Amino acid sequence: MTAADTRSALPPIGQHRRQLQGVPASPGVARGRWTRIERPPLPAPMRIRPDQQDAEVRRLQDAAAAVAKASTALAGRVHEAGHEGEAEIFAAHAAIAEDPELLDDAARRIRGEATDGIGAIAAAARTVADSLAALDDELLRSRATDVLDVAENIARRLAGFGSADAGLHEAAIVIGRDLPPSLTASLPRDRLLGIALEGSSPTAHAAILARAYGIASVVGVPDLLAVLEAAGSDVELLMDGSTGLVVVDPDPSDLARFAQRDADVRAGRERDAAEATQPAATRDGALVTLLANIGAPSESTDAVRLGAAGVGLFRTEFLFLERSRPPSEDEQAEAYSSVARAFAPHAITIRLLDVGGDKPIPYLQRAPEANPFLGVRALRLARHEPDLFITQLRACYRAAIHGRVKVMAPMVADAADVDILLDLDARARRELVKRGDAIGEMELGVMLEIPSAILVADSYFSRIRFASIGTNDLVQYTLAVDRGNPNLERYRDALHPSVLRLIRYAVEAAARAGIELSVCGEMAGDPVEALALIGLGVRSLSMGPSNLAAVRRAIRGVDLETVSSAALVSQTAVSPAEVRSRFAAITQRGES
Ligand code: PEP
Ligand code: MG
Repeated sequence: MTAADTRSALPPIGQHRRQLQGVPASPGVARGRWTRIERPPLPAPMRIRPDQQDAEVRRLQDAAAAVAKASTALAGRVHEAGHEGEAEIFAAHAAIAEDPELLDDAARRIRGEATDGIGAIAAAARTVADSLAALDDELLRSRATDVLDVAENIARRLAGFGSADAGLHEAAIVIGRDLPPSLTASLPRDRLLGIALEGSSPTAHAAILARAYGIASVVGVPDLLAVLEAAGSDVELLMDGSTGLVVVDPDPSDLARFAQRDADVRAGRERDAAEATQPAATRDGALVTLLANIGAPSESTDAVRLGAAGVGLFRTEFLFLERSRPPSEDEQAEAYSSVARAFAPHAITIRLLDVGGDKPIPYLQRAPEANPFLGVRALRLARHEPDLFITQLRACYRAAIHGRVKVMAPMVADAADVDILLDLDARARRELVKRGDAIGEMELGVMLEIPSAILVADSYFSRIRFASIGTNDLVQYTLAVDRGNPNLERYRDALHPSVLRLIRYAVEAAARAGIELSVCGEMAGDPVEALALIGLGVRSLSMGPSNLAAVRRAIRGVDLETVSSAALVSQTAVSPAEVRSRFAAITQRGES
């Protein structure tokens, strides 16, 4: 069948037209076919009995054969679509899935170590990948990732997750119930047109990443999956990440509206860049420092271009996801140094590893938890894996030669956690001094995202140099609202008076101790909510670079006096809605 035949077989445009209203998560518009991508986490490996071993080896071989077959088929399709290079990669994957050395080693592990196929193939692949990674040849080294990829596909088959063909092989809007951050981070950006999810929320990491990448995103779209399954994979989607609207199988008037919105968004981006050098000062002269949140060194350029005066949050965990072992100290030092250089003389704030919660990393092999957001997450992992943090701190000290570096610990609950941070820091520094390495000076601080950390701030603020409020988790933990659950929109509001009071409490404690305070949660990047923060006394806001312009405009349109008195009364408001309408009115007056 030719391409023209395929087109004439498609339903006429608009036949399945539906409009679905979701929650806006990342601005921008997108138009294209959809593809569903989902990758549920693998179950932890289990031990098996001797009488189950032969059957488990056969299951492993069957799963590997299925992956080889799927990879060959995929290579053929990708080749036909004209992507020669990628076709070769998938053909190589098929060869890896049939590699007798890999499969024999996995079978030996099933028999010798009584582990199941999932554990055996992961361990066998790690051995191969580690030996490849140690080679001098660049090409062979890069094959390590392919081996791990294939092993994961085999493990997914063993776990009953079906096809290994879950990649984004053509430009499309990705849809799903949810999208884990590691998967979001690994999607090829040149083919990722937009993200529309039935679940999730604007403060979940999938949306945070979409904003960082400038990819339009809508979350919490009711019935999205059922509607699209019924409409078929040939229908087009339109989505608007600013309004939350998703149009399935658009008609000509939808397309015309979309084209206009697209032009507006492009014009808006040009205006944002043109305003980047304007100071973020209120009309009565209060200056606010605007910083960027980034997840990778490659995001620095945009942040600098859009006028960020430094980095208020470098989410380093994205360097640790989607790989078989943590990045080395050298690799990390290089990543952090490049960000420090890009922003010098401004400071960059590196956040220590924040994994757990919605960001598990498989190579840590932690037992699954019933409530990962309330579990061994972020700094709490330091008791079990101190070297992870000490290595990271050593890399930070090395980067501090190239610019001003601040380091903060996530998920600090109280003074005892600050003891842990200071101890890790002292160990890292001692090791570097012993090695005779050149190191720079670093400021240490904490994230305030657990209410207890704010309520007892006076007990440890004098021992640190700065604090940064992570409102995404602060809202989650104050209001008992899972940040990824789309059914809790009514409860998830950063302008809740309880949250405002905690923030004001933190501002006062920081002033008493004479330390810097900033906000780096998503609240800082929302123009209306940012004004509430300024009214509460915050003078440093860190946000995704794409939000800098809108927040700067909002600040320049208001008087400090107005937002301060609005913030004062808002702390005793009855509802977040009351606070929101007050600050929305102030923002609108400022814009007009
Ligand atoms: C926060 O919790 O507000 C924050 C900035 O950290 P993250 O979103 O990465 O958890
Ligand atoms: Mg957080």
